[in-house]
Amino acid sequence: MESYSKVLSNDQLLEVLFLSKNATAIYTSEHIVIEMANDAMIDFWGKDRSVIGKPLEDAVPELKGQPFINMLKNVLLTGITDKGDAIPAETMREGKLQTAYYTYEYRPIKDESGIPYCILHTASDVTDMVKAKNAIKETELQREALDQEQILISIKEEQQKNDFISMVSHELKTPLTSISAYVQLLQSRGLTDLFVVNTLAKVQKQIRKMSTLISSFLNVSRLESGKIQLNLSYFDLDKVISDVVEDLGLIYPTNQINFEAGDRKLIYADQDKIGSVVSNLISNAVKYSDQNSAVWVQSVIMGNEVYVSVTDHGIGIKTHDLEKLFDRFYRVESLQTKTISGFGIGLYLSAEIINLHQGKIWAESEYGTGSIFHFCIPLAS
Ligand code: ADP
Repeated sequence: MESYSKVLSNDQLLEVLFLSKNATAIYTSEHIVIEMANDAMIDFWGKDRSVIGKPLEDAVPELKGQPFINMLKNVLLTGITDKGDAIPAETMREGKLQTAYYTYEYRPIKDESGIPYCILHTASDVTDMVKAKNAIKETELQREALDQEQILISIKEEQQKNDFISMVSHELKTPLTSISAYVQLLQSRGLTDLFVVNTLAKVQKQIRKMSTLISSFLNVSRLESGKIQLNLSYFDLDKVISDVVEDLGLIYPTNQINFEAGDRKLIYADQDKIGSVVSNLISNAVKYSDQNSAVWVQSVIMGNEVYVSVTDHGIGIKTHDLEKLFDRFYRVESLQTKTISGFGIGLYLSAEIINLHQGKIWAESEYGTGSIFHFCIPLAS
């Protein structure tokens, strides 16, 4: 077999270098004289072959004031290779001084005793790549600025919506309070006509429903604008549940709402808000069940917490809806729920209230069979 033991001559090496697509030049002497430069390097400088044999700073005067010539002198002095990636340099392009970006290497060539005597300079123009990267970065920054702007607009719109809900709710509350007062006035007149008595009771029932709804809207808007406040006090949770059950018993007389108060369950919480959570869960249990279906409410102490559950044998909830029930304005869309009125804020508010009390709320359900809603909150310490 033929052996490849021959070594390339200097001329052959130079030929290889000069065929290279990379811009290549060789400098000698402490004046950084251009010993050789391939066409790619000459193009790079924007010059012609007359530069060969001249010191670099005379051949390419625009390099004066830039760091490159000193860097080359340093390489010759120290014998250490200098390289850089995407370094900006001012170069002559189409008769104008322009910023271009280079990836370069200044490699010292040393004699037998290790003394550098010339420098091999290779470079590639990465201006297009750098410009493309900068353009991408610019577009990303613009997009981020737009996203930011969009977020601010959404926050503002959300704020306006909350302000609107709050204003409308307040405006609705005032006449409703007057209506309720007039109805109570009539009821206190010792009416004997049974039809009138019953009708007034129904009016009062509807007023109460509407009032709860308006309060929910007000609470949503307060919650969203961070203005909801807890009026904390010590109270027996079972007592609050009993009161709610009694109240709702009047509104939903055909549904049996079962609750047996047990030992005192002292909690330190916002009584009205916890009452509204219980009321919401029981109202839902009734709303999403048959007219005569019963509801069971239970409360038990486990560890340092009290657990409350509301069980119904109503329409039930599909698994994929269960995850979203506590989202704002979420309502299950089905033929059964279509005719049941609501806004999808009751559970959202309940969850927020329970969270504010460092508690948990969740639901389990079997579609078509019934649901159990649970919450737990810490007992007073
Ligand atoms: P609303 O009842 O006003 O729509 P909620 O936030 O109280 O709003 O409830 C959200 C949705 O959860 C309801 O629309 C209903 O689809 C479902 N849901 C709540 N409670 C029950 C329940 N006990 N049984 C079946 N579905 C329920």
